[in-house]
Amino acid sequence: MEFIEQALANYCNAHTSPENEVLQELNRETNLKIMMPRMLSGHLQGRFLSMLTYMIKPKRVLEIGTYTGYSALCFAEALDKDAKIITIDINAELEDFVRGYFLKSMYNELIDFRIGNALEVVPTLNETFDLVFIDADKENYLNYYHLVFDKVKPGGFILADNVLWSGKILQDKKDKDTRAICEFNDFVMNDSRVEKIMAPVRDGIYLIRKK
Ligand code: SAH
Ligand code: CA
Repeated sequence: MEFIEQALANYCNAHTSPENEVLQELNRETNLKIMMPRMLSGHLQGRFLSMLTYMIKPKRVLEIGTYTGYSALCFAEALDKDAKIITIDINAELEDFVRGYFLKSMYNELIDFRIGNALEVVPTLNETFDLVFIDADKENYLNYYHLVFDKVKPGGFILADNVLWSGKILQDKKDKDTRAICEFNDFVMNDSRVEKIMAPVRDGIYLIRKK
């Protein structure tokens, strides 16, 4: 998953603020006990998301794809006390684990954690958002983009994770998820309603601003 040489990646990590204790523990426990721990944002990306949140100062954040709550906690730590994040995941099996970490953090009251299929939950949200993080099933990225678009305030941001998909977006023969990500990336590029920059952070994060 490294797109710069390992030594440079190590250098970036070494010059990035460390994870706080709860995130460190969550990272470790996810790697030990939970399936597919590679999905967790991790140190560098977590600090990047937190820094973006400090810069944007969103009052309402929506995250699609909670997993073990790592990225949600990175957004939450940078929020003002009157702000909030809604985070959605379809996997009920992780609920107790995730809620435990939200409670252990200092940010539980800022986090509205919903279990459900985001395709069904998002249309029920009667809110507008300053920041949306799309990080659930890749084949629905474009569906999520369309579902959230009208709920994003003008001047608000959509971030989409894993848009480089370990480099598979460049391969001639593409599997279903890779095709979906390519379709999403091309749609966003051609969407005149937004400004965008694809940042090669970790597995690629598309930073999209609604005009
Ligand atoms: N944002 C997390 C990682 C998310 S991994 C982090 O950075 O640490 C992707 C998550 O999307 C998985 O937990 C999976 O259960 C969830 N997911 C997949 N399909 C979904 C759907 N239709 N609705 C909601 N969540 C979904
Ligand atoms: Ca991800």
